[in-house]
Amino acid sequence: MKKKKIKATATQPTTKYIFVVGGVMSGVGKGITSSSIACVLQAQGLVVTAIKIDPYINVDAGTMNPTEHGEVFVLKDGLETDQDMGNYERFLNADMPSINYMTTGSVYQSVIEKERNLEYGGRNVEVVPDIPLEVIRRIKKAALVAAADVVLIEVGGTVGEYQNVLFLEAIRMMKTEQPENVAVVMVSYLPVPGSIGEMKTKPTQTAVRMLNSAGVFADMIICRSSMSVDQKRKEKIATFCNVRAENVISSPDLQSIYDIPLNYEADNLSSRLLAILGLTPKKRTDLKAWKQFVKQSKGGVDTVKIAVVGKYFNSGEFVLSDVYISVLEAIKFSAYKLNLKPEITYLSAQDFTDKKQLKRLGVFDGILLPGGFGKTGVEGMLNVIEYARKHDVPCFGICYGMQLMVVEFANHVLHLKYASTEEIDPSAKHLVIGVMPDQREKIAKKEMGGSMRLGQYPARLKTGSLAAKAYKTTEILERHRHRYEVNPEYIERLTAAGLSFSGTSPDSTLMEIVELPPEEHPFFVGVQFHPELQARPLAPHPLFTAFLKAAYEAK
Ligand code: GLN
Repeated sequence: MKKKKIKATATQPTTKYIFVVGGVMSGVGKGITSSSIACVLQAQGLVVTAIKIDPYINVDAGTMNPTEHGEVFVLKDGLETDQDMGNYERFLNADMPSINYMTTGSVYQSVIEKERNLEYGGRNVEVVPDIPLEVIRRIKKAALVAAADVVLIEVGGTVGEYQNVLFLEAIRMMKTEQPENVAVVMVSYLPVPGSIGEMKTKPTQTAVRMLNSAGVFADMIICRSSMSVDQKRKEKIATFCNVRAENVISSPDLQSIYDIPLNYEADNLSSRLLAILGLTPKKRTDLKAWKQFVKQSKGGVDTVKIAVVGKYFNSGEFVLSDVYISVLEAIKFSAYKLNLKPEITYLSAQDFTDKKQLKRLGVFDGILLPGGFGKTGVEGMLNVIEYARKHDVPCFGICYGMQLMVVEFANHVLHLKYASTEEIDPSAKHLVIGVMPDQREKIAKKEMGGSMRLGQYPARLKTGSLAAKAYKTTEILERHRHRYEVNPEYIERLTAAGLSFSGTSPDSTLMEIVELPPEEHPFFVGVQFHPELQARPLAPHPLFTAFLKAAYEAK
């Protein structure tokens, strides 16, 4: 008998889909809400996966400036995505595959590609239904890949915007196709204007009406506000928005985002959702490990003061800590594990172009230099690295941070005149950081989108090195996002001058970790990859833990 091929569009009949849409305004925490819902459903023994839909034309998040869009999160398989994918991975303690992320641009690209390949059999290809159908195909494929009981789908943007209309259309079509398997959750914002001192529900009512005009009806409304929603307002929302009062969930501002799943459980959110979807839990809610983590996050007495010196913090009058969100969270997880209270200060690299400013660093126990691109702030970062190296301040460089550690070392210890990275000064005599050979061609052809060295790669660590001690293994897998690398021509000279290359690609061609020996410095480590992308609340990253431990001990 012929074997039946599983079609990519097929799906398990039992999969349930929860769409999360936002009302009233952006920035109310749809991503954290979706992650928290996913977290409490997972705690019932269900297999849960989460999808993010971004309304941009950009095919992925990789070409967006972080000051515009926040952090670019890189998935294990290399897709450059929105930071919400990072939230999903942290709250679910699981890797998300690239099928779980889409943008308007990527959806259109697929449809146009299929049209070019005659996959539509010569018929008219139209925005409706072909765009929503492609969205649905991807959602079902993600369900299949994860063998999910429940799929959370977060629709970016706010209801009422022109940009996400086609995604609402996809929800409408899916709900018509399988009403019993689809639930819609609206995350709305309820203002408490200072002049009135009362929580107002009208903007939410208007937002729900706009959602309804797209043919989509909410099953649950999650009310984001500075305070809890009282029973009276829950009933009012229920009456005006066509949901049952018990499906109006209060989601006040909390001390930490990691409290949210516990708050939802206190409000029976998961059982309400399971009831709406006719799903039975596979076990009694088990949030033990999560509760333990939350407890530990509040327990630390001793502080550890970390300066994150980045180049993307300033936007007009505002400080954008979102740009390095995974780095900040990774610091916290490791600090909690060590029972320490992290005090993180964001400092703009540009400020340290003036060396007189370096004395501001005196109050910190450790300095972290995150990744980045281009010239801005580089001089300041180099000054900070020199300061940390000479003053024995534990210093952790990530990607660009690591590359600049090598540049600083080459200039001031190896005394090359003068060394730089090809990214900022291609005419420098000693390009200790050079463009990777396969990248040179891509740059020449202006193939810049999705073309860096991206995603997870293995590396081998030197036995006995600081890195190997931290990881407790010599074989690791880490995620990357870079075009430049340590120039192999300089490795011998840098090593002779005392810089140890303690981690390399398995074929020894790419330098993945640099460190100074413990007799030279308490902690001077740079990594070409992005360890922050794999740090999780329930699995803190060993290198961050080693860095924080060194910072605390060097106090
Ligand atoms: N700009 C550097 C490179 O492309 C570092 C990238 C990064 O920090 N993510 O190699």
